[in-house]
Amino acid sequence: MSAAAETLAPSSATREFLDQDHKLFINGRWQRSSTSERTVVVDPATEAQITTTAIAGEDDVEQAVAAARAAFKGEWSKINSHNRTRLLLKFADAIDANMALFSELEVLDNGMPVGIATYCVRKAGSDFLRYYAGWCTKIHGQTIPVSPMEAANGDTLTYTRREPVGVVAAITPWNAPLPMAVMKLAPALATGCTIVLKPAELTPLSALLLGHLAKEVGIPDGVVNILTGHGSQAGAALVAHDDVNKIAFTGSTEVGRQILQQAGGNLKKVTLELGGKSPVVVFPDADIQRVIPGVVRAAYFLQGQNCMAGTRLFVHQDIFDEVVNGVADVVSRMKLGPGLDPSSEMGPLISAQQRETVMGYIQSGKESGAKLITGGEALEGKGYFVQPTIFSHTNQDIKIAREEIFGPVLFTQAFGDSDLQAIADEANRSDYGLSGSVWTRDISVGLKMAALIDAGQVSVNCHAAVDAAIPFGGNKLSGWGREFGQEGLEPYLKTKATTVLF
Ligand code: NAD
Repeated sequence: MSAAAETLAPSSATREFLDQDHKLFINGRWQRSSTSERTVVVDPATEAQITTTAIAGEDDVEQAVAAARAAFKGEWSKINSHNRTRLLLKFADAIDANMALFSELEVLDNGMPVGIATYCVRKAGSDFLRYYAGWCTKIHGQTIPVSPMEAANGDTLTYTRREPVGVVAAITPWNAPLPMAVMKLAPALATGCTIVLKPAELTPLSALLLGHLAKEVGIPDGVVNILTGHGSQAGAALVAHDDVNKIAFTGSTEVGRQILQQAGGNLKKVTLELGGKSPVVVFPDADIQRVIPGVVRAAYFLQGQNCMAGTRLFVHQDIFDEVVNGVADVVSRMKLGPGLDPSSEMGPLISAQQRETVMGYIQSGKESGAKLITGGEALEGKGYFVQPTIFSHTNQDIKIAREEIFGPVLFTQAFGDSDLQAIADEANRSDYGLSGSVWTRDISVGLKMAALIDAGQVSVNCHAAVDAAIPFGGNKLSGWGREFGQEGLEPYLKTKATTVLF
């Protein structure tokens, strides 16, 4: 395991993008922020300052929301569904045409390995937009047979229309910057809403590039607005704004709770995609050659900074050592290094603060009596690298098993020949309920366990199956509402029932 110290040079297109004077994207124009303040963007692999971005203030929020409202009432409302499809497809093509640039920006902003960045830009970027492009022409209401109304002698017709909710404020986290932005933009645009997007302060770059492409492909001015800045300023102002109709938030449970409280003024719609602490349950008949790489991916994808991360591993006692030692063997040989190095298998954590938080959890694990199986150290030198770490323990009452760490730390525990309900009860012993997986060759056991796990999404013999078509969201403290798929359109739509008396 080694962390390459040298910086790999980004492409000239990326350097050119970084060198730009990044502004706010409001009403189709790039403009300076009213605060004149800037924030520094840091490459987490090298700790180098790579660019600065504007910090939006309340005046900028006012302007962006006003632009989104005007666009919603104006040109955008007149663009028919087929033309919205065309625009979304053009937007998707523009992302693909800038694949290398997006991938490098994601790497430099977030730290993820370049192969994973490219995978995310396509799967959860351009393909995601294409999926929702197809929905523009398929959003419709119903005709409803009704009983004749009192005092109505004639025939009646009752029908519903699905209308866009209006102005959406999207607030996104830093762990997968481009996917998080597109996951809000795509259903908002498909339904005919307009949007003000505030990306995480630590990772603003791919959202800014999306603003440039929105302009380039002809999305009308004001339909997409991008405000970089702080959650406590621009984020909070968007949440409280009375002319915003919906908040689409992805981030921590703590901030999600605040948003619910602050969004109540105009009773705007709110969807929350929040934290997780997902279980991975491995039965003794599972195919161990599939389980080991599956667990590695479940726990360490995006350095474990992944809301769906499978960070609580429950393995039947008969195969516990084989599985856990197998996972430890793979991760202890993983190459940690800058994401731009194609041979790096795992990148750094997002920030010095995140490294400190994760190391605090590792220390707590060591002090709680859990057995450290591998890892447990931060790497010396530049970059916020932390070794992939595994602990085992006999019960889940310790902090590392209960709290979301959002780093490369896996908790493991063996289980015996209990009934399925007892195993599920242990898997469900968490405040969260986002994802989960079951590993077995017996499909009936897999399906029964999948039904018993309290999570928005459960996979059998894989973990965290993500696709634009699969509904996604959390139970318990993991969220409120669903994104993706047809269900993901619902929070962006409202129903109007109309009755005609003939
Ligand atoms: P965070 O909650 O600190 O920040 C998320 C976003 O909210 C950022 O853009 C931030 O600026 C903004 N924000 C902060 N305070 C705000 C406020 N008072 N009002 C409005 N906006 C505010 O989360 P993070 O640290 O960026 O991301 C990590 C968290 O996100 C983890 O808990 C992770 O599980 C969660 N997450 C969930 C999903 C999901 O789909 N369920 C996906 C990715 C990340």
